[in-house]
Amino acid sequence: MIIDFRQLDNGTEIEADVCIIGAGAAGITLAGALRGSGVQVCLLESGGYELNEEIQSLYRGEKRGLPYWELHLARLRYFGGSTNHWGGWCGPLDESDFEARPWVPHSGWPIRRQALDAYYPAAQALCELGPYRYGIADWEDDARRFPDFHPAKLHAQLWQFSPPTRFGTVYRRELGEAGNIRAYLYANVTELETDENASRVLRAQIRTPGVTRGRCGPGISSSPAAG
Ligand SMILES: Cc1cc2nc3c(=O)[nH]c(=O)nc-3n(C[C@H](O)[C@H](O)[C@H](O)COP(=O)(O)OP(=O)(O)OC[C@H]3O[C@@H](n4cnc5c(N)ncnc54)[C@H](O)[C@@H]3O)c2cc1C
Repeated sequence: MIIDFRQLDNGTEIEADVCIIGAGAAGITLAGALRGSGVQVCLLESGGYELNEEIQSLYRGEKRGLPYWELHLARLRYFGGSTNHWGGWCGPLDESDFEARPWVPHSGWPIRRQALDAYYPAAQALCELGPYRYGIADWEDDARRFPDFHPAKLHAQLWQFSPPTRFGTVYRRELGEAGNIRAYLYANVTELETDENASRVLRAQIRTPGVTRGRCGPGISSSPAAG
């Protein structure tokens, strides 16, 4: 079910086992993976189905360092997130992407590339790509031969191109029909309430740009959903 949070009563409380904040590539994928699992999922999305200037302006922010687009122009704040205008270039990361680089502050991941290997084929399908094959030889045949460059001098990298998948359009129906998923539009998370030690998040505070406020978390009884 997909619900417009603006239509709900002020003070609405949503009971859920899992609360996902943001219906972009990550949030939609995660909710989809929990479809039919019996786990009650609440997906909170800041925007609606289309760009709304007021909501989009919440992405305004300061940037530093290398030149980059204005933040509120680069990322999109509505159902589907930035996949509503992403380019669709896809390919697995390199081993070196995960390593710390002394000249790049805060670089290095806590996982290695292999940790993602099991998930790439599923991601490939979600992005509506071709077969999960990124070796040069995989794509060579009698008609197509890659030139023999010196491997120490030239590294060839393959990409595949997603249509590009607009996650909010392509996966909207299956999320809307899932019995265990409630997605809320215009539901901006403004605060996370934690326990005393801040070791556990207990609730997410929700606001629409108008007046409606609410909360989502485990152990609170759901108010009737309108709209
Ligand atoms: C112009 C552009 C081109 C790109 N091209 C490529 C490409 O070719 N290949 C590639 O691999 N990647 C590309 N990307 C990157 C790709 O789009 C992102 O990596 C991907 O969308 C990130 O997914 P996400 O779910 O983390 O964030 P997003 O897709 O941005 O989704 C975040 C969601 O969270 C919602 N949200 C934000 N704050 C709140 C809040 N407080 N409460 C509730 N909801 C909230 C937003 O409305 C949004 O729907 C591109 C990005 C841009 C901007």
